[in-house]
Amino acid sequence: MILKESSYGAGLDMHEPLIFEQGNTGRIGVDLPDTKLDTIRLGKCKIRNTIGLPDLSEPQVIRHYTRISRNNYSIDTGFYPLGSCSMKHNPRLNEKIARLPGLKDIHPFQPISSVQGALELIYNLQEWLKELTGMPFVSICPAAGAHGELCGLLSIKASLNNKGLERSIVLIPESAHGTNPASASFCGYTTDKIEEDSFGRINLVSLENKLDENVAAVMVTNPNTCGVFEKDILEISKRVHEAGAYLYCDGANFNALVGKIKPADLGIDAMHINLHKTFSTPHGGGGPGAGPTVLSEELAQYAPIPHVIFTKNKYDIIENINSSRNSLGRMRAFHCQMGTFIRALTFCLSHGKDGLKKVSEISVLNANYVKSRISKSIKPSYKLNCMHECLFDDSFLRGSGITTLDFAKALIDEGFHPPTMYFPLVVKGAMLIEPTESENKETLDLFCNSFIRLVDQIKSGNKDIFLNAPQYSPWKRLDEAKAARNLNLRWNKTT
Ligand SMILES: *Cc1c(COP(=O)(O)O)cnc(C)c1O
Repeated sequence: MILKESSYGAGLDMHEPLIFEQGNTGRIGVDLPDTKLDTIRLGKCKIRNTIGLPDLSEPQVIRHYTRISRNNYSIDTGFYPLGSCSMKHNPRLNEKIARLPGLKDIHPFQPISSVQGALELIYNLQEWLKELTGMPFVSICPAAGAHGELCGLLSIKASLNNKGLERSIVLIPESAHGTNPASASFCGYTTDKIEEDSFGRINLVSLENKLDENVAAVMVTNPNTCGVFEKDILEISKRVHEAGAYLYCDGANFNALVGKIKPADLGIDAMHINLHKTFSTPHGGGGPGAGPTVLSEELAQYAPIPHVIFTKNKYDIIENINSSRNSLGRMRAFHCQMGTFIRALTFCLSHGKDGLKKVSEISVLNANYVKSRISKSIKPSYKLNCMHECLFDDSFLRGSGITTLDFAKALIDEGFHPPTMYFPLVVKGAMLIEPTESENKETLDLFCNSFIRLVDQIKSGNKDIFLNAPQYSPWKRLDEAKAARNLNLRWNKTT
């Protein structure tokens, strides 16, 4: 191994070689007794040579992974204002409960009589989600928001089939998250756009023009991804139902409504809830999450299995399609992420109904605070008060030679993770900021100060700090397109 002396530990922040370059033949971190199973053990074994694992000591391995973890920005290290993601604090109480041995050491194949407590927990979470949404049924099977969309749309499709109706189109507003059209296509539907009005909301005329006997469902997000409440939602629901279609609500933005408004009162038929957003369970890096999906009385019969019920004084699982009317069947093995359920229920119980109401109130207040401060410097994309996230765009960068991406990179040098960039697509060069309820005023002020300071730099024509950013992060600008198109996770001995 060659440690480059010039970079080793500079500023106590070591840029280390690949772990494969650190390997030293014969060095080991474990001392297992000799065994005849030489060929399959990972310790002193042949397999190690064939797959090229490096030989390392335990301290080397610990330092390697600890260093990597420090390169990772997370909600535990700082403000994470990604819009449409609800990157909020993950309370440590949730973690403590999720690690209780009686919960963490159970297995899905255990006899039902031995996991009554776990089933009670799932059942209670179901009851909380039904109460908070006002909907009569929830399926806790879907593994994430997108999976919940699939669950809702498959239920809608099954219901239409049952009525002998062949409908092929799903209408989706222009501002929707990409998973909406993807889920609809996955279900075999074609999608069509609903235009927005000048406030970022669904254009009722556009909706009306496209609603006909070919439309299976309309997917709305409320509040939508522009951070605006769809105030005509009751009218939308009425017209959708009059056309014989179903109203699917993308519930990723439930953080703005939780405890305050019951989606059932908005006339929806199905909605997923991202437990990893609204209910504070950790996310980022792709999972695990959970996307329980609430369904109307009519759609509930199509819900996937398994489903937890309480009957004859004990908890039980409906696992058989025949006993569950017209169930879609399984969407995945077992229930879903137990650890996510435990954290979400702990969040509900520790906040109570009044606390959850505060969650939505403070998240909306925080977003409007950020919006009003930054609006003194640049124009927001929409004038209306926002819900839990606020939207700005790149109009202030026009003619400056600086892109939205450059601006985002400069925020990193200011010590802030950038907001969501270039989404929603309806706004050019969008910057969607969602502070969530867990940030205090001091943090919001520091963020707004940095944001405004950078806008001032644009106004005074200072390009360099943007074009050279980020200067202070461990990695500078990476070729993101190359990383996505030419992914190479293999270590190649020859390079
Ligand atoms: C996050 C999100 C989704 C998808 O949810 P996943 O849990 O990531 O699958 C869908 N719609 C909106 C508006 C979202 O923000």
